[in-house]
Amino acid sequence: MPVPTHIARPVICSYGLGVDSTAILLRWLVDPSSRDFPLDHLTVVVAHTGDEWANTGALATRYILPRLRAAGVRLVQVARKGPSLARDGVIVLDDSDAPRVLHSQGAYKLSDEMLAAGTVPQTGGTRMCSIHAKGEVLDALIAQLVQGRPYRHILGFEAGECTRARRDATYDTAQRTGEYPLIEWGWNRVDCNDWIFLLTGVSWPKSACSYCPFALTNQEGRQRTLTRFTEEPGPACLALRMEHTAIALNPRQGLVPNGRLIDMARTFPGMKTTLDRFRDETARAEHAVYRIRRVWPPRSSDPTQAGRAARSVELVATGTRAQMHHKLQADSDRDGKQIDTSDPDHHRLWAHRRTQAGPGYEEFFAVAPATAHHKVSRNFAGALAKLSQRNLF
Ligand code: SF4
Repeated sequence: MPVPTHIARPVICSYGLGVDSTAILLRWLVDPSSRDFPLDHLTVVVAHTGDEWANTGALATRYILPRLRAAGVRLVQVARKGPSLARDGVIVLDDSDAPRVLHSQGAYKLSDEMLAAGTVPQTGGTRMCSIHAKGEVLDALIAQLVQGRPYRHILGFEAGECTRARRDATYDTAQRTGEYPLIEWGWNRVDCNDWIFLLTGVSWPKSACSYCPFALTNQEGRQRTLTRFTEEPGPACLALRMEHTAIALNPRQGLVPNGRLIDMARTFPGMKTTLDRFRDETARAEHAVYRIRRVWPPRSSDPTQAGRAARSVELVATGTRAQMHHKLQADSDRDGKQIDTSDPDHHRLWAHRRTQAGPGYEEFFAVAPATAHHKVSRNFAGALAKLSQRNLF
């Protein structure tokens, strides 16, 4: 597994399957003057989230693996083994200088984590999904490869991404040196696309998880993603399923900023097959009645403002979708409370509504596929106690 010891300073290239790192690899493979090391010093590493678009994987298999094979370049493919990197570690899916198969199905997928948590990747702040599913996995792999030796870490930041490169360089150590060939070459995205097209005849697609909310933050990205959904109904259904359960548990959790992917899909041309499949899969899935409690405790620095929310998700019952809706109705009749049907996709039985912004509490029951696990966040009891001490329910 470690890079052979005669290679004093290995070159480790993080390959994300996208345009940027694909352009670097293709240039290095065909143009020796673009690199200052022999190819046997290069190890290409890929961390699979398990949810990459099928056509990106197919293109990499068709155009990149044969070239790596022909040049004898080592490709190491890894993924998370389970929900906790510390406890479960990483799994090496393939380690070969003649790679034939791209294992983009991963092992423990990012979608497994999201479905179990009943949520979607979060767009606010740091991209934690990427850090957990890719960055930390690659760090663990690279540590095993270099065994404490100094190494060059190659990343595909484009010419216009100097700020990202500068930020990355802050992670340099005596052992690790980040390098950014595209910036050195002055290559932007157009240059990368042109180069790839020249060598493969293909307009290389963006690499991402099919449900990536960052791909849905602007009109161009939404158009591109929904068009891909019409071509790949499987990943589309996964994204819709993930969003469906996340919204059932939290009405504010759509994949699109201030909106929902399902609403966009319903009006996008060519989505009928995908929507039919999603509806059938959902109807057949085991369902649960969930009890969701959410607390926004008063902030220590300013008790009129809400601190970090804490959540409790409990599975009250499981069965078919019809059985679970029947139970929700029976609970509603028993308690003399009307089911809230204002959201046609997600009926809720409210026990307590948060009436205003700031510290508060909400509790409701909802029906959704039984993928989410029982989970009470660590700060839940403390947050609840803070709220009741101040009588802020
Ligand atoms: S592609 Fe999107 S969803 Fe997938 S890990 Fe990266 S940021 Fe997260």
